[in-house]
Amino acid sequence: MAKASASMKYVYLFGNKKADGDGSMKALLGGKGANLAEMTRIGLPVPPGFTITTEVCAYFYASKRSYPKELRAQMEAGVANMERILGKKFGDLENPLLVAVRSGARDSMPGMMDTILNLGLNDQTVIALAKRSNNERFAWDCYRRFIQMYGDVVLGVQKRAGEDHEPFETVIESLKAELFPGDTQVEDTRIDANGLKELVSRFKKLVKSRTGRDFPENPWDQLQGAIGAVFGSWMNDRAIVYRRKYNIPQEWGTAVNVQAMVFGNTGERSGSGVAFTRDPASGERVFYGEFLMNAQGEDVVAGVRTPEPVRELARKQPVSHAELERIRKVLESHFKDMQDFEFTIEEGKVFMLQTRNGKRTGLAAVRIACEMVKEKLIPWRTAITRVPAEQLDQVLAPVFDRAAIRSAKLIAKGLPAGPGAASGKIYFNAERAVEGANRGEKVLLVRIETSPEDLRGMIAAEGILTARGGVSSHAALVARQMGKVCVCGASALHIDYHTKRLDVGEQTFREGDYLSIDGTAGEVYAGQVKTAASEIIQVLLEKSLKPEQSQTYRYYARLMQWCNQATRLEVRTNADTPEQTANAVAFGASGIGLCRTEHMFFEGDRIDAMREMILAEKTDDRRKALAKLLPYQREDFAGMFEELRGLPATIRFLDPPLHEFLPHDHAAQTQLAEKLGVSVEKIAKRVHDLHEFNPMLGHRGCRLGIVYPEISEMQARAVFEAAAEVQKQGIKVRPEIMIPLVGFPKELQLQLEVVHRVAKEVAAERKAKFNYLVGTMIEIPRAALIADEIAREAEFFSFGTNDLTQTTLGMSRDDSGSFLGAYAELEIVKQNPFASIDQTGVGKLMEMACALGRQTRPGIKLGICGEHGGEPSSVKFCHRLGLSYVSCSPFRVPIARLAAAQAALEEDKAAKAGKK
Ligand code: PEP
Ligand code: MG
Repeated sequence: MAKASASMKYVYLFGNKKADGDGSMKALLGGKGANLAEMTRIGLPVPPGFTITTEVCAYFYASKRSYPKELRAQMEAGVANMERILGKKFGDLENPLLVAVRSGARDSMPGMMDTILNLGLNDQTVIALAKRSNNERFAWDCYRRFIQMYGDVVLGVQKRAGEDHEPFETVIESLKAELFPGDTQVEDTRIDANGLKELVSRFKKLVKSRTGRDFPENPWDQLQGAIGAVFGSWMNDRAIVYRRKYNIPQEWGTAVNVQAMVFGNTGERSGSGVAFTRDPASGERVFYGEFLMNAQGEDVVAGVRTPEPVRELARKQPVSHAELERIRKVLESHFKDMQDFEFTIEEGKVFMLQTRNGKRTGLAAVRIACEMVKEKLIPWRTAITRVPAEQLDQVLAPVFDRAAIRSAKLIAKGLPAGPGAASGKIYFNAERAVEGANRGEKVLLVRIETSPEDLRGMIAAEGILTARGGVSSHAALVARQMGKVCVCGASALHIDYHTKRLDVGEQTFREGDYLSIDGTAGEVYAGQVKTAASEIIQVLLEKSLKPEQSQTYRYYARLMQWCNQATRLEVRTNADTPEQTANAVAFGASGIGLCRTEHMFFEGDRIDAMREMILAEKTDDRRKALAKLLPYQREDFAGMFEELRGLPATIRFLDPPLHEFLPHDHAAQTQLAEKLGVSVEKIAKRVHDLHEFNPMLGHRGCRLGIVYPEISEMQARAVFEAAAEVQKQGIKVRPEIMIPLVGFPKELQLQLEVVHRVAKEVAAERKAKFNYLVGTMIEIPRAALIADEIAREAEFFSFGTNDLTQTTLGMSRDDSGSFLGAYAELEIVKQNPFASIDQTGVGKLMEMACALGRQTRPGIKLGICGEHGGEPSSVKFCHRLGLSYVSCSPFRVPIARLAAAQAALEEDKAAKAGKK
């Protein structure tokens, strides 16, 4: 009984230091609702209100957009609670209560859903508000804002296809033009009460003409409409795009928060702001944010007026500034993470409207995590969880080349909103930016102000540049989270969407011209500017910077060292050259997980010997050509073994269809014929003979070594001769020879015989001993299904998830681009299965192969070397399978190390929770 009544609680109240909910209830109350409750509980100044749960959202969508019958009474109780605390009344003609209605999903989705402020105003209550506040201008300003927001969000009065401006903005602009003829830079605050009354009347006419209905006057009707719109916005286009990008499940739904209004627009003693407890771009421990006096919150985030930095508040309103500093400390010590919060100052009194863990750049994430450990706010294990693994990419991303930037022409300065360097062709709208990116161009999205509707363009762009708006505009937050380079509020830029041109000083740039932006310094440069490696790369790989010269490097190194302490899964690398090996080892790889030996044949004139081998029709000729390839391979293997200094190296024998190496056009065939001293016809015929209809399922993988064992012989010889050479220098060598595309145990047996025979031969010739393993890739379903039999021969398995995905899904890894977009759009697949393991399908085969393999050979070494080995959620999956390593490209090694450490911590946490 108790359970049934608890599940019928749809509305959670907060106010006056008491709250029904708390910060742990994000799934039910959404992030905003849970934290409003939490802030209320810890005594921060939060205006009272209530949260309608995400369960109501689920009900709304499951029941044709209707509500549970208990909801109305619970909402009435919620409004009554606000009325009691504040001594106001909803719809009252003396002292009306006005409310804000805001969305709030479990994870914040900045700006993606809708908000309505000043709800409860109508032609009567506006007069009461004017009287009560003794401020007619303020009351009418609230009213016009309310009609504008409600009209846009609830009634759908929005710009139509092809229009560049919002209809309400057009009405404002035309009124301004009448009131201040000839002045093009009129701030809204200059419109007086009479002007605002006129605006209200024009807004209402606009609503009537667009919707055919009068603007609703009854506050309860308004509230009902607003709540429906906020729930409805969960399914708007930009929210869907955002969810897809960040893998937020649709089932979560949003909560709705109804909260008493406090006013930042009553005059110069009031204002609104957004602040961070630390700098979200650099991570520095400074109070960072911005505010606007005489403004409501949306003015700050919408980017229409460029706000002032929060330090200015210390000068303008020292008492409010000191209160915010106090709140900043309370927030960090309570939430133990960097917070991003919204506040309003009403007549000198500060109110908190929201707090959440702040979005930050990868650079900031690393720094904040490290510094919070130093400040004893969090333990080092928590620090590991604070940096999203994918974000490490940003820390390794290039910056502008110092010399190139010195000679580049600085054309404007703005605010540094997302660090890094980006060069690209400029586009003034999101759609065209996407089209440009689809053509393979590097693009910069250039807008007067960023807005959440630009999301697709932002995803496609290398960087974002705006002429107006501050560093906490919602879209700038999104840019930062995506790791996009971003410069905001570069006010010297004059952008004309109609003519598609940008004027700055004497210069003009048109769509398609190049600009470069430095999001760390907030600078805009003409043309393309060369980039240089990140400081971490400069320290680790280029060695052009010393560790002590780079704070970024030192923080990165500390984080990686903590990862080592937490991790159970090793991270190896996919490398085919000594240089790649050296890079990966510098990034902390614990060996090579995949050396694709065919890659070693592309360089210089090696390809000629390779082609000669392929073209050979007789075994003897093939052996002759192979003998030419042997020294190249031996030399490369030796170079890699030296770099590895005793770490293991998984070397895979030749895998791709042979025709990939052959010249296909006549000119190239003629050239090759000359080089090899054979006729061009002979070459053309052999190319023709080798043609396959479905080469990925053709003569490739171990099928090559089975039909031409001399190829595997040569490769084995190269491995062991190199091992003998390097061992002589006193360096340990641990080759792990891997046979690709095995599906039958006999395939593996045949190849094993070759390897062991050659190992014995070389050992005898060189008087050497080898410590080596022979194993196989698991990359076709048959191998996974009979892994117990395969494990009789194989000393290790490495999952080739590229081919395993291709063969399990029956989806070509090379051709899936043409339909996967549609599949993602229709949510047939949640993620690209070639990027992130299809855990339910391919994952099941992996799980089965692990279990079967261990049955035959307990302790069998298991790894993964498909592209998925560097993708965080796949790395975590591999950890859960109990693999011993993942292998990925050298530059993804740090990301995989972080994901591996996080996986271990998640497992510990789950185990602890299970014990409780
Ligand atoms: C794989 O199939 O996952 C693999 C690593 O091999 P390749 O990508 O070379 O086919
Ligand atoms: Mg493969």
